[in-house]
Amino acid sequence: MKKEEIQEIKQLLSAPKKVIIVPHKNPDGDAMGSSLGLMHYLLNLDHDVTVIAPNDYPDFLKWLPGDSSVLKYESSKKESDHEIENADIIFTLDFNALHRTGNMESVLESSNAIKIMIDHHQQPDDYARYMYSDVTICSTSQMIYHFLEMLDDIDMVNSEIATCLYTGIMTDTGSFRFRSTTSTTHCVIADLIDKGADNAEIHNNVYDTNSHARLQLLGCALKNLKVIPELNTSYISLSQKELNTYDFKKGDTEGVVNYGLSLKNVAFAVIFIEHQQEGIIKISLRSKGDFDVNEFARKHFNGGGHTNAAGGRSELSLSNTIEKFITILPSYKSDLKS
Ligand code: 5GP
Ligand code: MN
Repeated sequence: MKKEEIQEIKQLLSAPKKVIIVPHKNPDGDAMGSSLGLMHYLLNLDHDVTVIAPNDYPDFLKWLPGDSSVLKYESSKKESDHEIENADIIFTLDFNALHRTGNMESVLESSNAIKIMIDHHQQPDDYARYMYSDVTICSTSQMIYHFLEMLDDIDMVNSEIATCLYTGIMTDTGSFRFRSTTSTTHCVIADLIDKGADNAEIHNNVYDTNSHARLQLLGCALKNLKVIPELNTSYISLSQKELNTYDFKKGDTEGVVNYGLSLKNVAFAVIFIEHQQEGIIKISLRSKGDFDVNEFARKHFNGGGHTNAAGGRSELSLSNTIEKFITILPSYKSDLKS
């Protein structure tokens, strides 16, 4: 961000304002961690702050400090619309286009509040008055840390903020192992621990609260795993029937696609998950190295994201979606083999 813009934002925040913070639909650890981290900072500056998530998120994020104050647009539309209509400032976090907020798109679009985007996804839309966009940073939560640094307020990071930001960085980096994890990330993480983030407890809260049914669903997914060795690709499918059998709950399939990517010689892994209620197949795509899943998801599956992690959707049936995928794949042979 330009120095002048930071000065303008600092000026904007120098008197109490009504602030709304919005993460993307189906919020993940980074979306909620960055939103709640920013919320605590702004509350401590005496602003009136509300986080409004487009819809619900997994239970393994519901321990985050401030979680109980989050409004979900899906179930509190009237109250949320009222809040948004009265907002002075709207922060949009961890997404690059307003349609990523689902049903909140139109009310956000028509709001006259000053919009501030903080995000690390590629090809951001131009809807915000202030844009802090950096696709090289691993997580929006790390960007919130840098945002507070730019505002000269890093000393205001307390244990609540540190806990939220640590969680977002941890979840978006696959616990600090993805290529996006830099020495700067580790310096930020070290400082967050010094400021009160309890790393072992956070890890435990997010990753070690599995139900028996969730592990059985994982077993089912692994049984369904297919490998296409000549294209260094693997894919997993989960039908609605299988999800029902194992009592699927939001978040239960998070991270499952990474098992496909853990295979030796696999550089591209995909999971197809049937969502009967929405009438779509939700697709998660992951890669190692140069194969660009953001481009692939944009081109073929109405999605996007980052070079090595993207999402998309299909309105075909589960089997037809997989067939489409298998048909497209050979045209990428040279990229996948290199
Ligand atoms: P996931 O597979 O975990 O849902 O998403 C992987 C990454 O791609 C995340 O950073 C997520 O924000 C992004 N992503 C997921 N779905 C979409 C989509 O439909 N459009 C865009 N632009 N990004 C997506
Ligand atoms: Mn993110």
